[in-house]
Amino acid sequence: MSKVVLNNVNKIFGNGFHAVKNLNLSIDSQEFVVLVGPSGCGKTTILRMIAGLEKITEGELYIDDKLMNNIEAKDRDIAMVFQNYALYPHMSVYDNMAFGLKMRKVNKKEIYNKVTETAKSLGIDDLLTRKPHELSGGQRQRVALGRAIVRNPRIFLMDEPLSNLDAKLRVQMRAEIVKLYHKLNTTFIYVTHDQTEAMTMGTKIVVMNEGVVQQVADPQTIYDKPANVFVASTIGNPQMNFIDARVAKEEGGIYLRFGTFKVKMSADVSELLLKSGYIDKEVIMGIRPENIMLDQENKREALSLKLELMENLGSENILYFEIMDSSLVVKAEPKYRGAIGSYMNLYFDVDKIHIFDKETKEAVI
Ligand code: ATP
Repeated sequence: MSKVVLNNVNKIFGNGFHAVKNLNLSIDSQEFVVLVGPSGCGKTTILRMIAGLEKITEGELYIDDKLMNNIEAKDRDIAMVFQNYALYPHMSVYDNMAFGLKMRKVNKKEIYNKVTETAKSLGIDDLLTRKPHELSGGQRQRVALGRAIVRNPRIFLMDEPLSNLDAKLRVQMRAEIVKLYHKLNTTFIYVTHDQTEAMTMGTKIVVMNEGVVQQVADPQTIYDKPANVFVASTIGNPQMNFIDARVAKEEGGIYLRFGTFKVKMSADVSELLLKSGYIDKEVIMGIRPENIMLDQENKREALSLKLELMENLGSENILYFEIMDSSLVVKAEPKYRGAIGSYMNLYFDVDKIHIFDKETKEAVI
């Protein structure tokens, strides 16, 4: 049960590299916060600063209102689960799990009870005498989690703990970590570059790029209202379509024009575009693949585009259409069958169109 606050935190490494820039983040007690972003954006560095494994160059870290900058890692009461598990190779599973408690001079009986009980809850109680090299990746992952759980820390930090597992096990462990979170009622801070993990696990997502926070919000808000093109392209699979467009005021209303096509904006959006001076300006239009519909009965004014490729995943069918030297990705019903090379009529759910400023890449609506 712990609140973590980072105030204007910066990390500049010895070589002058500015890895984390002016980070302001407030994490409430019992939140499951996911830091997501591409490799090198500073996620691990943030975790390591919270854990006390990396010095904060500038700014403050508070845990439960106490300034932690100069508190040693071992005195922070935080457990970290690493990507490579970091188990002691020469120790048994039992000893690996017991290690932190032994260091804290907890009595043997209590250690035994905690380790066996935790091992049981993780389904690894029959592996306690084995050494790490005698375990599968998933089992090692459980041992690493178990070692963190027995310490009963006030905060769990997890650095891509699932990235070494195969796809199926990853999905299974993802669910187990979420269950664990609900059971332990503790603050979790979790690092990943996998948008599905971010969306499914977090109560709050922090999207990072090049050391800078791009957006902090709950998963649905991040998905529905991305603050900029970077966030929009990071979250969502297949990713949002981006099309260069121009805002045009014409008889009949305000349109987004692209190539030979145009889409009419709703009254609300039109008013906003008018007010904020976007008429005749170039913008980036964003539309998610599930917000583009096939007009199979040719009932409405639609875009006519050539079908380039179809990927049927069983539960959905991903269609790729040719548009202005690029591809427009559409999610269709699995039963949909179209002939490659044929022209299809498509229309956009106008209420789901995103508009980004061409220069700043920030969301306009
Ligand atoms: P990944 O997903 O690949 O783990 P990340 O987002 O966790 O990436 P960090 O490990 O936090 O990224 O690294 C952020 C940046 O800081 C990277 O560009 C990295 O090269 C740099 N960096 C990390 N550690 C050091 C160091 N000790 N000295 C100099 N630069 C470093």
